[in-house]
Amino acid sequence: MNRPVLAANWKMNNGPTTAREFMQSFLDQYPRQNDRTILIFPPALSFSVVAAAIGERRDILLGVQDVHWEDQGAFTGQLSVPMARDAGARVVLVGHSERRHVFGETDDDVALKCAAVERGGLTPLLCVGERLDERDAGNASGVVVSQLRAGLSRMTQLATREVMVAYEPVWAIGTGRNATPEDASAMHSVIRNELASLCGDRARVTPILYGGSVNSGNARSLLGAPEVDGLLVGGASLDPGSWLAIVRG
Ligand code: PEP
Repeated sequence: MNRPVLAANWKMNNGPTTAREFMQSFLDQYPRQNDRTILIFPPALSFSVVAAAIGERRDILLGVQDVHWEDQGAFTGQLSVPMARDAGARVVLVGHSERRHVFGETDDDVALKCAAVERGGLTPLLCVGERLDERDAGNASGVVVSQLRAGLSRMTQLATREVMVAYEPVWAIGTGRNATPEDASAMHSVIRNELASLCGDRARVTPILYGGSVNSGNARSLLGAPEVDGLLVGGASLDPGSWLAIVRG
């Protein structure tokens, strides 16, 4: 397995005051670990607080939850890749299920964003995942492969640049119903095979994370499943205690 990546997506939670308290508590109890990478996606308003708390620690990376594909301009409310880089972000979450299904983001929007992230020298963490009706119709792999292909379609340096992928079945996000380790493994293999056809050898070292109702009780078995290189955690990353249990485990 690649070095595991444990990622916290705080979504629209943890404003600056709560984020500062969270980081104080978390960092006090989590000394540097070189065998795993921690990734935190705070909301934009809390980014600088979290960056200041992390300081020089290289085992903890920061990301932003979304970007616009343009570098600057009249796009009220949006963040750009150069801004994210300037603030200290290393990774950008692209195509999260809530962006797709709540805000109507299309595959082409996702592709434009991945290309902007590549252009700006950051790493995209591309999220893909099927809805329950698509799984029930036997089309889960078809949907995931098509989102993966579309999302990466505008990137030009796939063979050499770092990309991360998160398999997040929509029916598992925030529902308390996680995929089984076997189901996650099977889909991660599909993703890795597809990556091999898109970016060659790099597919072997591309981190593929599982996300969807991960908690301190199921994290170990999901992370132990073949082809699972890490976890993307929403709800259970908001409490320093459960997040600590996940990243320590
Ligand atoms: C997520 O936001 O990416 C996620 C997987 O959420 P949760 O862990 O709450 O299901």
